[in-house]
Order: sequence, then structure tokens, then C-alpha cells
Amino acid sequence: MVTYINEVTRMQMIQAAKSKSPDRFVKRLNYNTKQFKDVDFKRLFEDDTFFWYAGVGDHMVILEFDGAFEELKWLTKGMKGPNKINRLTQEMVTKALSLALDESDLRVACACEDWKYRYRFYSVEKGYSADPAAGKYHYRPKYKRTNKDDNKGYVCKHILAVLYGKRWIPAAAKAWLAWMKANPELTSQYLFSEKYLKKLDKKLSIDVPQETEEDGGND
Ligand SMILES: [Zn+2]
Repeated sequence: MVTYINEVTRMQMIQAAKSKSPDRFVKRLNYNTKQFKDVDFKRLFEDDTFFWYAGVGDHMVILEFDGAFEELKWLTKGMKGPNKINRLTQEMVTKALSLALDESDLRVACACEDWKYRYRFYSVEKGYSADPAAGKYHYRPKYKRTNKDDNKGYVCKHILAVLYGKRWIPAAAKAWLAWMKANPELTSQYLFSEKYLKKLDKKLSIDVPQETEEDGGND
């Protein structure tokens, strides 16, 4: 299990909507997230950030969280022998994504008016914004006028639809797994790094001569 320092988690966002924005909480039911796509899996390996543009109704939601790769590393730690990548299962990957989604800080954003005028300002203040335009609009006062007491929970109904159901997770896992199998070298470098590091050490000691004191030069 990976430890996280929490700002705002998935459950907090859902609970706050239930108590402070019951209308939005109910309206989330009108939306199904469209088919899973558009995740940069290389980035998921390189900085352990899952970044997804999800189509929800007429709007685009951004969902971003860390830790899925770290969870997968943890879940596959005991694997021994060759062909580890072929033994990765959708179940493992689903579990890794699901654990990270529940435990980590989420960063979210939506393209709707509700988000823009009621949540964006506070999402920046509280550190849960994934909005690329957030900084640009942050200090324009009108963006917090419609929610001046910050009493409407954390997120709009579109983001709630993505957070609540979790039905997209197996689809995300399937896509991630397909990517790993299509990129076995990169995957084993990142995921089974002990082997990778050993190989890298060996390669470096053969190919790259070590600098000696003589090479340093004397003045
Ligand atoms: Zn929205």
C-alpha cells in the first residue's frame, strides 16, 4: 500500500456533494462517461500521473491523480521469473487504479459554467484544480461571486458523474494493460526496475569507461 498526503480525496468530494449540493448529486445520474480514451500512459509511468480528459454530456472533465503506477508496482512486487508482462492481468491493473483513485489527492476541472463560476476559484485555493486555465482567471472576482460562501461542495455534476460510478475504471485498466503489452521494454524498465537497473549497470560498466584521476587533468 502506498501512503498519500491528502488534500481532497474522491470520498470527500462525493460526501460534500451529498450534504451541500444534493441537487447536483442527483443530477449526476443523468450523465454517463463516454468510452475511456485519451490517457497518456507514458506519462503515467514517468511521473505517475493519471491524466484523463473525459467526455461527460456536452462537457469535458479533467481528472488527474497520482499513485496508480506506484500501486501497480506494489501489487506486482512478488512476481518472479520471465514473461512478467504477459502475466499482468486486468484485475491487477484495475485494482491499482482503483486504490490510487480512492486514496490519492484528486485534481479535477470541468468546462461547464457551474464549474467556471462556482468552483474554479476554490479549486485553486484548495489545491484540487486540474484546470489549465485556472491561474489565468483565478483572481477575477466575478468567478467567485456566485458561490461567495463556498458552501456548494467541491465539484459540479459532471465531475460527480465521473467520481461516483467508477464504472470506467475497468475500461481504463484494459487500455493501460494493452499499452503495457504493446510496449514491453519500456514497461519492464519501469515496473520491474531491479532487473532494469542491474542490466543498466552492466551495460554502463561495459560501454562507458569510468573517469579516472588521470583523466581529470592537472593544472
Ligand atoms: Zn461541469
